[in-house]
Amino acid sequence: MDHPLRLLPSIKAIQDSEVYIKWKKTASISETYLTALARDVVEEERQALIAGKPYESKEEVHRKILTAFDKRVRELLEPLLTQVVNATGVVLHTNLGRARLSAKAADAARVAGSSYTDLEFDLEQGNRGARTAKIEALLRLLTGAESAMIVNNNAAAVFMILRTFAKGKEVLVSRGELVEIGGSFRVSSIMAESDAQLIEVGTTNKTRIEDYAENLTENTAMVMKVHQSNFKIIGFTEAASRQELAELAAKHGLLFYEDLGSGALFDYGRLGFGQEPVIPNIIKEGVDLLSASGDKLFGGPQAGIILGKKHLIDRLKKHPLARTFRTDKMTIASLGATLQSYLSEKLEVEIPTVRDVVADAETIKTRAIKLKKALALYPSIQAEIVPLTSRVGGGAMPDVPIKSYGVKIQSSELPAQTLADRLRTGTPSVIGRIEEAHVLLDCRTITDEEIDLVGQAFAKLDFKKRL
Ligand SMILES: *Cc1c(COP(=O)(O)O)cnc(C)c1O
Repeated sequence: MDHPLRLLPSIKAIQDSEVYIKWKKTASISETYLTALARDVVEEERQALIAGKPYESKEEVHRKILTAFDKRVRELLEPLLTQVVNATGVVLHTNLGRARLSAKAADAARVAGSSYTDLEFDLEQGNRGARTAKIEALLRLLTGAESAMIVNNNAAAVFMILRTFAKGKEVLVSRGELVEIGGSFRVSSIMAESDAQLIEVGTTNKTRIEDYAENLTENTAMVMKVHQSNFKIIGFTEAASRQELAELAAKHGLLFYEDLGSGALFDYGRLGFGQEPVIPNIIKEGVDLLSASGDKLFGGPQAGIILGKKHLIDRLKKHPLARTFRTDKMTIASLGATLQSYLSEKLEVEIPTVRDVVADAETIKTRAIKLKKALALYPSIQAEIVPLTSRVGGGAMPDVPIKSYGVKIQSSELPAQTLADRLRTGTPSVIGRIEEAHVLLDCRTITDEEIDLVGQAFAKLDFKKRL
């Protein structure tokens, strides 16, 4: 018998194969990379044979290697992010990329990305201009803050603020606000990385202003309030008010900073959705600095938005970390366009996050009816319009249910899990949820145009059609 490693094809044999030539011709991929991929695939099979993978015929090994090679090239050429239809009803789904950008914001990002821009150039004066001056002007106008700054994301904002103002010093935080959000962001670990010392005050459910006062030392630099984001403590609770914290901080020459997490610029509470405080009010209540995410309730691109007193923000802007955490031109463009929508009376139409949170159930029901109609083509599918409960997600308003509608689907050909799997891995990918023996598609997070895409996704599942 041949030595198992003799079963492996030569690189030359792969280069002469139909698949190799196909990729070379159709995708005009450079030989350098095709050959490197061929080597990788052969090497992996070699390792498998060494590890004792059962002996196969030479032909079978070759076929397997060519299939693996073909798959490898195809995967590398797929778009890095695949469009997904979010039928979960979670408006800000972190795994699905949080906020959907408005058409204006997406377009602004495309223009900024594909052209030269006046990013750091003053067109009137013909000399160097400030990178984020316009965005800061918009933020000041919309929030009433003295000054503004943007960074890469809110985690960067938190780190930078702690590092700049509390390095080697103590920061007071209520035990009720020591949050961990998805993806291992913990206030305590960011604090440790920034070399600020976390002083926990109060208890999980009750923290009074006296608890802060009692923990003040010579070395206290900051009183920090953290938005509870993804959880809610209910029942016997108490927290110091912003006014109390602002007074305490002012009296002792400390900085009062709030990590707002989501950060709403739109008053969702006014329309009956939760009690998320709006940024202009938080500023009026006396915080020195606050930070929020651009892609949560704000409804824009990933960014960290810092607002507050001018002298403090000037210090942040001069800090070497400012360069480390700065935003790119596409973020500046799309965040700017999102902020411009906030100026408009049509913001509830323009900004998808706002639109999708506040859309009334009847509007969603109309969409569900349209989806049900598209599915009526398939006799093996039973689709029923059902009331559902959507969520905001993204660590915002965890306790706020939103009345919604969707379609409850059952197939006589496939069990619910298989149907959900096929929809998820289909084109386009449709992500719903399973409840008992049904797949639920919540129509709150699906646009009218995407309803047609869901129809197309079903068309590709090969269900028998009604004649
Ligand atoms: C989401 C969140 C962050 C992190 O914000 P990113 O923009 O994701 O970096 C920080 N703090 C709180 C309270 C949050 O909810």
